[in-house]
Amino acid sequence: MTESYEQMWKDLGLDLVAHDMLLQVLGKGYQDIFLAQKSRPQGMDYFNFVLSEVHGLRIKELVDAKKEGKKVIGSFCVFVPEEIVRATDATLVGLCTGADFATEEVEKLLPRNTCSLIKSAFGFKLGKVCPYIESADMIVGENTCDGKKKSYEAFGRLVPNLYVMDLPQMKSPEGKSLLKAEYYKFKDRVEQLTGITLDVARLKKGIEIVNNKRRAIYRLSQLRKADPAPISGLDALLINQVFFYDDPIRFTQSVNKICDELEERIKTGSGAIPKGSPRILLSGCPMAVPNWKLPWIIETSGAVIVGEESCVGERGTRNLTDDTGSTLDQLMDAIVDRYFQVDCAIFTPNPDRLQHVKDMTAAYNANGVIHYGLQFCQPYQMEAMPVEGALEDAGIPTLRIDTDYSMEDVEQLKTRVEAFIERIK
Ligand code: SF4
Ligand code: SF4
Repeated sequence: MTESYEQMWKDLGLDLVAHDMLLQVLGKGYQDIFLAQKSRPQGMDYFNFVLSEVHGLRIKELVDAKKEGKKVIGSFCVFVPEEIVRATDATLVGLCTGADFATEEVEKLLPRNTCSLIKSAFGFKLGKVCPYIESADMIVGENTCDGKKKSYEAFGRLVPNLYVMDLPQMKSPEGKSLLKAEYYKFKDRVEQLTGITLDVARLKKGIEIVNNKRRAIYRLSQLRKADPAPISGLDALLINQVFFYDDPIRFTQSVNKICDELEERIKTGSGAIPKGSPRILLSGCPMAVPNWKLPWIIETSGAVIVGEESCVGERGTRNLTDDTGSTLDQLMDAIVDRYFQVDCAIFTPNPDRLQHVKDMTAAYNANGVIHYGLQFCQPYQMEAMPVEGALEDAGIPTLRIDTDYSMEDVEQLKTRVEAFIERIK
């Protein structure tokens, strides 16, 4: 950290000793995994800085905004419509759920066989180490998988400000009506929290800010089609992770800036990874900060990740919201239309996701797919079997990996990933 933020963390109620431990682990992981890479684009300096200040400057910005009366809303899922939040000048931050913390305490409240992502949310709260959770004026939970849905009953007892949103499980007209009703309820709640009533101009502005952010990320994705890949999958993942908590306008500018640089790299044929390296599409559960284990294993085994079919990746960022409506209802409908296309594995049946994986494999010239499922994640682990079967039938080599946030299986995963890379070479 470039400045001492101790007083701010204390005021937020963090456990300074535990928090310091977390920062040390984060810093070391970042050093070993990201800074150790060769041929990184210069534009990554900005994202290195953001990461180095993730619990510092960014939190200070949020705290300062709160002093001016602006609100901070925390979320765990890409179904929370950021457009509505931005339209009230509030900030939406994704809450990191990518590391084990305070496991013993967590397992007093949740069964051991709960996915790491849910346990991590509890661990960060119970360990008092997350300044984002502590700064949030409201935390949004969403009834997606059974694990999340039921765990929010316990999470609601740990935080004073949990708002739970229901979500459909089928892409039927009834499902869409449910999503619409929930988004209207959410709009009312956000209006109540912020004291700002939405109008057409405000919602259009919110849509524009979020669409621009998605356009920039889309531009970045397109550049990853080149061989040699102008940016590593790890760095691209980091940008996709920063998407969830940076200031959106500054983030958009920084992504566009790195894209300019990557375009130059492509013109001169220089890359972050040697030309001809095996290209992998990563598909499955979201990779929240600081869960970098599998991408690190893949890229230190000689392959490059060229795309993520994931909520931290294309599942969360593709598709813009139509901003042409001229009434509040039309714009709200456009938001519903956009989010209803998210192909999360909680939907049944879910053929769009399989098609999306196939389309991405072709678009990014991937030689194979690695399907990443968190242990005890029913939606993605169950869907992994038909997805793997269908991809193999279509001639797309696929490796199914189920893991968690511990480092115990690193060697075993490395052996399997290396064998897969040999197969697709
Ligand atoms: S996997 Fe589904 S539930 Fe999880 S963040 Fe993505 S959309 Fe939300
Ligand atoms: S969808 Fe899977 S990874 Fe996501 S919270 Fe539910 S069980 Fe965990």
